[in-house]
Amino acid sequence: MDLEAITALIGVGKNAAGMTKTATEVAQSLRALLAKPNPDTEASNRLVSELLERLLALQSEQLSMQSAMLELREEQRRIERFQANANRYTLKRTEQGSLVRELKASDADGDPIHCVCAECYEKQVISFLQLVGHNTFECGECDGIVYMSDGRDSGIMIAPVNRSSRFPGDGTV
Ligand SMILES: [Zn+2]
Repeated sequence: MDLEAITALIGVGKNAAGMTKTATEVAQSLRALLAKPNPDTEASNRLVSELLERLLALQSEQLSMQSAMLELREEQRRIERFQANANRYTLKRTEQGSLVRELKASDADGDPIHCVCAECYEKQVISFLQLVGHNTFECGECDGIVYMSDGRDSGIMIAPVNRSSRFPGDGTV
């Protein structure tokens, strides 16, 4: 659960509670004033205006509370989505040295084997890596670049060592 969102919600809740208390106090003063034999109209009008102001502020605080709760629910859904899929991926270092999370073949469940961003995975986001260049993939979420084989290389191309061993004495390669 997102701690920041919860803290924000608690803050909004505290605010609203404080505002409700103030509005109640204003209403009580108003009642006390009106209970007098000859209530001061001007003073009571002032209190009514103040009460209205407080209630309007309270209403807007309530709206913030509502939107904070919606955010929290959205966050919870996102985390649930992540948790439902998290165990399907395993950490792997690519031949090019990048860390990625790869879909386990045993958990593929019909999906093609693919890799997701290891950085985003740590933030509980599963973000696909899309091919953007030769052996180069980009994360759609954090724009991170990952290097791994795009499957277009044949084994022969990667090994200059093999080449020199295949053509001993050819130092010009
Ligand atoms: Zn990412």
